Amino acid sequence: MTSPAKPIDTVRFAARLRGRAIDVEGGRVLISRLAGSGQEVDLTLPANCNGYGRVRHFRVATAEGWPTNSLPIEPACRALGITPVPDMMTALVFQNAACAWRCWYCFVPEELLKADPNHSAWFTAAELVDLYRQIPDPPRIIDLSGGSPDLVPEWTPWMMRALADAGLAETTYLWTDDNLSTTYLFDSLSPADLTLLRHYRNYGRVCCVKGFDARSFAFNTRAAPQDYNRQFEILRRVLDLGLDVYGYVTLTSPHDDGVAQGVADLIDRLQAIDPNYPLRIIPLRIQVFTPVEQRLARDDARERSLAVQEEAIAAWTGELERRFPPNLRALPICHVPLRTRPA
Ligand code: SF4
Repeated sequence: MTSPAKPIDTVRFAARLRGRAIDVEGGRVLISRLAGSGQEVDLTLPANCNGYGRVRHFRVATAEGWPTNSLPIEPACRALGITPVPDMMTALVFQNAACAWRCWYCFVPEELLKADPNHSAWFTAAELVDLYRQIPDPPRIIDLSGGSPDLVPEWTPWMMRALADAGLAETTYLWTDDNLSTTYLFDSLSPADLTLLRHYRNYGRVCCVKGFDARSFAFNTRAAPQDYNRQFEILRRVLDLGLDVYGYVTLTSPHDDGVAQGVADLIDRLQAIDPNYPLRIIPLRIQVFTPVEQRLARDDARERSLAVQEEAIAAWTGELERRFPPNLRALPICHVPLRTRPA
């Protein structure tokens, strides 16, 4: 069992990291250098963009017993007019260099999460777009990942403007991750930036819920259990913006009691925000990457949690089958209507 370390004070830690990870006046974001990092061994292609970008292969196929994963492939294809929808698409990924949480299964090593200037560099959005343009036959999807892009929410509208300035807004699809760890999106962006987020056509945002109850959340992230509830408050506000929002959920927990009930409660909470939102969520099966492997060797609870996620996904699938009619479940994920985005 993991020794009960003091939980992360998300509000304080996030504020400290934000101070080191964005230069608002200069329009610059601290981006992780992937070349030479502990993450590099897990990349299928060498890092690109001078070592600050990577190509990610998004695939629809997943493991047996797990739902297929059409994120961000289907939303990107709809936006870009690509038919038929392929089974795999590549994306260019940039990672901001900070995250306030320390998920045990994170494939990003610690040195790329703590805004460490030795493992990162400052870039404007225009400079990142320039790097993108230099890639031969570049991926159509640009993924702003982390780290935790919600620590530096300005990054997204900056990229939107830079892509529009470069004439790339219509031919690329922008996909951004949101860890639901902070409210900076609402506290720091100007009304003009929020309007741009709402109206930028080729944009999708994926919010990640980490766990199916407070104790699985705390176990997964090392944050305080009460931050589990906070994720849903933030999620409600993100959905209220009317963006094209999707979701991931991770279902690992060291406790094998109350799994089915925990999953049912989670879906209740998601439906209280938007009745159809669970159909826009893909549960992610936690797999072992190199940084994870090193940590796993030291902890039985984490290994047990990998078995619990198999029970939890069965519960998730069963709940969706009970709650939603087949015609709604059969919709492409990007066609699932939301309160704020009716069909
Ligand atoms: S929130 Fe994401 S980037 Fe941060 S530690 Fe967890 S998995 Fe890694």
